[in-house]
Amino acid sequence: MSGGALQTYDSVIAGAGIVGAACADELTLRGMRVAIVDRDVVGSGATAAGMGHVVVMDDSEAQFALTRYSQQLWKALRPQLPDDVEYEQCGTIWVAADEEEMAEVDRKRNFYAGRGVPAEVLGAPALRNLEPNLRCDLVGGLLVPEDIVVYPPCAARFLMQRAIGRGAALFLGASVAQFGEKRVRLDDGRELDAPILVNAAGASSPEITPGVDVKKRKGHLVITDRYPGFVRHQLVELGYLKSAHSLTDDSVAFNVQPRRTGQVLIGSSRQYGAEHKEVDQDILSRMVRRAQEYMPGLASMSALRVWTGFRAATPDKLPLIGPWPTDPSVFLATGHEGLGITTSLATAKILADLITGSKSEIAIGPYLPSRAGDHAHV
Ligand SMILES: Cc1cc2nc3c(=O)[nH]c(=O)nc-3n(C[C@H](O)[C@H](O)[C@H](O)COP(=O)(O)OP(=O)(O)OC[C@H]3O[C@@H](n4cnc5c(N)ncnc54)[C@H](O)[C@@H]3O)c2cc1C
Repeated sequence: MSGGALQTYDSVIAGAGIVGAACADELTLRGMRVAIVDRDVVGSGATAAGMGHVVVMDDSEAQFALTRYSQQLWKALRPQLPDDVEYEQCGTIWVAADEEEMAEVDRKRNFYAGRGVPAEVLGAPALRNLEPNLRCDLVGGLLVPEDIVVYPPCAARFLMQRAIGRGAALFLGASVAQFGEKRVRLDDGRELDAPILVNAAGASSPEITPGVDVKKRKGHLVITDRYPGFVRHQLVELGYLKSAHSLTDDSVAFNVQPRRTGQVLIGSSRQYGAEHKEVDQDILSRMVRRAQEYMPGLASMSALRVWTGFRAATPDKLPLIGPWPTDPSVFLATGHEGLGITTSLATAKILADLITGSKSEIAIGPYLPSRAGDHAHV
């Protein structure tokens, strides 16, 4: 296409991360002519940086509903996923270090049990049996066997390929310079018109829709060499909840994942106000020390690579899915913080339901951008 040419679609999606790819997949499935624009390549943003833990969470009923719904969609998709998506139902163990955290294990189990999610309380011997490389004095944990692990960039590529197979147009290496009122202008002058514009630009979403209340929350991850069998489940300390909930402080938490390759993925950190991509040695050391406190054997492993990524954080820790109140042509699919891999598929369903006027499987009120109320400053 030459510079300045105008193309028209039913929908233009800004962002080819897992959320944009899932939206492209779902909108094309419903018969729409879709274009997707990304300044980089498919699955290159937070999607390439994420852990790929598809996890049911219980911070709020709305968070539970979205994560559970989406996890079921991942399960249903499994037979179609190519091998490189590395879908593994390894389960999560929420690890309790003391009696206070063991009380949280019981609360969590009751919450899940009341909503049909299998979960099993583990005492210290059972925990040790399942994960012998955890330190000895941990008091127990909660096994949630239906949680999954995927490899996010390949999942995004798979969803995008399906959309392209249904006729979607993908524009890579092109930055969205203007976005709104049914028109997207790219930095090279090209223009794409559509009655529906979807902002799926993740942590950069406020750059193209000013006023969207999303902040960058930086995270670090480390991947080790291959140590097959060292970790068998996604392991997360229950103290993680305290750190993930903090809206201000930098924090680290023990969170490790077994990869199909035998590698161990070690997380995680959370920082606000750190806008640069470089590795922050101080928080990285804190994160690795924390991991070694829980799994002392990690200290003798070789780390192959460290990287960072930016979560898109909203003030109430729920994503923004649906129409943007100040421009009826703009829909948001952003603000997924540390759960965007998990909730991408449900986000796409809800967004497509809203666009096509269909009823959603779950109540959508908690995710609508209009819940934030005052957009008058935009
Ligand atoms: C360290 C870390 C660990 C995580 N672990 C997990 C996990 O275990 N489980 C889980 O569910 N989630 C996890 N997440 C969160 C998850 O990675 C994100 O929520 C998810 O990837 C968001 O996807 P997205 O498509 O919204 O954003 P992104 O993947 O960031 O995609 C946005 C895209 O928009 C493009 N873009 C932005 N601005 C423009 C522009 N102006 N013009 C053109 N293109 C533009 C970018 O290039 C990018 O490709 C983690 C995140 C981090 C950082």
